Amino acid sequence: MTEIITVNAEQPETDKLQAAADIIRAGGLVAFPTETVYGLGADATDADAAKKIYAAKGRPSDNPLIIHVAAPSDAELYAHTCELYYRLAKAFMPGPITVILPKKNTVPHSVTGGLDTVAVRCPSHPVASALISAAGVAIAAPSANLSGSPSPTKAEHVISDLSGRVDMIIDGGECEIGLESTIVKIDGDSLTLLRPGAVTYDALLCVCESVNIAPAVTEQLGENERPLSPGMKYRHYAPKAPLILLDGAASEVVAYMRKAQDSQNCAIICYDEDASELISDKLITIGARDDLEAQANALFGALREVNGFDAEVIYAHLPPKEGIGLALYNRMIRAAAHTIKKV
Ligand code: AMP
Ligand code: MG
Repeated sequence: MTEIITVNAEQPETDKLQAAADIIRAGGLVAFPTETVYGLGADATDADAAKKIYAAKGRPSDNPLIIHVAAPSDAELYAHTCELYYRLAKAFMPGPITVILPKKNTVPHSVTGGLDTVAVRCPSHPVASALISAAGVAIAAPSANLSGSPSPTKAEHVISDLSGRVDMIIDGGECEIGLESTIVKIDGDSLTLLRPGAVTYDALLCVCESVNIAPAVTEQLGENERPLSPGMKYRHYAPKAPLILLDGAASEVVAYMRKAQDSQNCAIICYDEDASELISDKLITIGARDDLEAQANALFGALREVNGFDAEVIYAHLPPKEGIGLALYNRMIRAAAHTIKKV
């Protein structure tokens, strides 16, 4: 049985969060909103509770979880921090950034997928923050979706994926950002960007002179290559029909989409300004062409919605790689299994 509760997203009711925190402390699973996407949380120091997360999501056990803390300095309990960690914390926490650090023994290997490092994040969402404080322990939480489907940005996405599989779902409305956190690994004085998110590459450069982008962020890895972030190797976000990303001038892409609508059973994910030039059937708009934040916010919902169309193929624009565009690009090439068509 899954209990579904609704809380005030700005000022969550203490008694409701206390009930959720009690479930976490007793080794149960609670899905909760964050500013990025919904997370599926359990006590990060409890090996058995972590195993329940993997079972509920159908997640491969070598794909590590992110642990969520109430304050940046709480990372000390679980990881070996350093000066660069605190510079990142000062600039971006609480907020949509996750930092990979050497782990301490308080975090079981079942949380870290067997790795000796742990991913630490301090979310800014009032519900997430209050829940972690009430639990009095770090909360291990991957995205609250079934493994392979798009991350949930609304409670209804969580309910459709995990109802009956978790103890509680906290409905705190829509997630503000809509894409998962930026993940960076600290290597001495340099950073490696493992997963792009709302904290952009340029923003990271303001804190650290040397930021490398892991190859898996933009490229398909070879069969035997190991990504620096285990999650990068899994097919993700994939809609039922194949998704093809169209690379070219916007007008050419829209012309291609319009032609495809005449000859194929296709669904289209496009920008707001394209809609007037396309047939409205099986069409989803995800924001204005220049509004990458709006597109980031709408993408995962669109990838879920498109499954409701009985289409044989899906077309969308290939996003630019600038700013939060890099995060959109990364999620979309993975949803498309790297299928890009030049037009
Ligand atoms: P999710 O919480 O579902 O967005 O997934 C968490 C992501 O964090 C996965 O892609 C993991 O590969 C990545 N991650 C978590 N812990 C580590 C770690 N210790 N080293 C590298 N990547 C990690
Ligand atoms: Mg995920």
